[in-house]
Amino acid sequence: MRKLENYVQGRWQVGEGREAVLASPSNAEAFAEVSAKGIDHAAGLAYARQRGGAALRAMSFAERGSLLKGLSQAIHGKREELITLAVDELGNTRGDAKFDLDGATGTLAWYASLGKRLGEARHRLDGEPEELGASSRLQGQHLFVPRRGVAVLINAYNFPAWGMAEKMATAILAGMPVYVKPGTASASLAHAVAKIIVESNVLPEGVFSFICGRAGDLLDHLEFQDCVAFTGSAATGRVIRSHPRILEKGVRVNVEADSVNSAILGPDVDEESETFDLFIRDVVNDLTQKAGQKCTAIRRVVVPEGAVEPVKTRIEEELARVPIGLPSEKGVRMGPLAGKDQLEEARARLEDLLVCTEILIGSPGDLDAVRGDASRGAFMKPVVLLAKSADAAPAVHCVEVFGPVSTVIAYDGTPEAAADILARGEGSLVASFYSDDRGFAAALIEEAAPYQGRLVWGSKRVAGSAPTPGTVFPQFIHGGPGRAGDGEELGGVRGLDFYSQRVAVEGFGPLLERILGR
Ligand code: NAP
Repeated sequence: MRKLENYVQGRWQVGEGREAVLASPSNAEAFAEVSAKGIDHAAGLAYARQRGGAALRAMSFAERGSLLKGLSQAIHGKREELITLAVDELGNTRGDAKFDLDGATGTLAWYASLGKRLGEARHRLDGEPEELGASSRLQGQHLFVPRRGVAVLINAYNFPAWGMAEKMATAILAGMPVYVKPGTASASLAHAVAKIIVESNVLPEGVFSFICGRAGDLLDHLEFQDCVAFTGSAATGRVIRSHPRILEKGVRVNVEADSVNSAILGPDVDEESETFDLFIRDVVNDLTQKAGQKCTAIRRVVVPEGAVEPVKTRIEEELARVPIGLPSEKGVRMGPLAGKDQLEEARARLEDLLVCTEILIGSPGDLDAVRGDASRGAFMKPVVLLAKSADAAPAVHCVEVFGPVSTVIAYDGTPEAAADILARGEGSLVASFYSDDRGFAAALIEEAAPYQGRLVWGSKRVAGSAPTPGTVFPQFIHGGPGRAGDGEELGGVRGLDFYSQRVAVEGFGPLLERILGR
């Protein structure tokens, strides 16, 4: 069996023993094992800080941007190989694999162009200089400089390429070396991307390190200039946030956690309209794309009381057009979950929801018409539940089933009631709403905005060109308040802030301006 290695201190290293076995979610056959046991993280982090950090800080934003461009091109150059690997080993459909890989290369390319725009500077000014006294002699200016540590990037298993690339793009452009820890379940794809990165020779020595196995004592060696960017469950997020070393050293942490996202159908939307079609498209897409394993997937489908039946009928019709099974089979549009553990977890959380909901579409455990060996693969067909009201089903606001499960919730059609439902999620990554009524949209944005990282307004005006709400653009922030982790990633130049130290410099204005380069 293949043993996946770790890339630390500028060389590939084999971990001791076996920490996990990777098996195909399509047929449960084991194909690789991983271990990061015995890797000297203290030395690895020190090497990254000294070698990688120094190399990046000596570069301008434009130069760092060209590194990202090189990475994007190197990964894109192996796109077909990576898609094949994702289909064979992760159980991704080709469409799901492309979503992950093109998201990765697109984000790297976008930050490459941002680097070019930021130009020859090595630090960023933040805001305008401010006079501090009666004369203009004494001035202050905020400045962002690269932190002199390592960016430890811990990712969830569901987007092995995109998750890694979005964090790398912002950290490297800001001037910090990276130490990447992928989710173990999909580590074979992350490992293949890491190989491409190393073999491309694009990055200076020490900028990139990669561990393929459990985190072990990694966090015990962090220093105060290091950062941890974490994506995963809220439970692991809490463990990391409260890690004694992180608390002791004041290590900066960003958490992107789980979230019970929503789609709201406005009361004005007719079931024959384009806006209704867009709403159905997004709900069905999020039930089936990546088998529902997206942090941004719509979990709560909020519809006016009278619309439950037409919504049910259309979702059912559309789901019938999505063949489920082995991703390698022609025509299959939905593959298995990431593995047996993830399947078990999704089934257990579905049971939690069934306590207070009824089944609207599907049947838990039903594997009829699944193309492939349904008993060996981690397959789960979509299930849509119904909550009679927001009050009747408290679990739907807090339980995330990380799989193809959503709950329809009836509401009275007012923006206030819709926003109240959103608020019960206690912080989400994204909510989409569908309406051609400007008044409804304005009221909903105002009421719902504090509870979301992103709001997506679907209407007839954008129906032909709207991406799905789960599409994370580098220009806009990804993250959300409360249980979503209260973190922020991406957001254009904002994404660099986390990896930078903001400092106020005060002194003699004319000289400061010359030194800081305004
Ligand atoms: P997870 O179990 O929380 O794991 C996330 C990452 O943390 C993995 O790399 C995991 O390593 C690592 N980890 C676990 N315990 C750790 C510890 N004590 N110290 C350091 N690292 C540790 O989440 P998952 O199952 O991979 O992903 C699914 C969850 O992620 C879902 O809840 C989903 O909503 C969420 N998610 C959120 C976003 C977002 O942007 N907000 C995006 C994607 C996914 P191992 O894999 O080796 O255990």
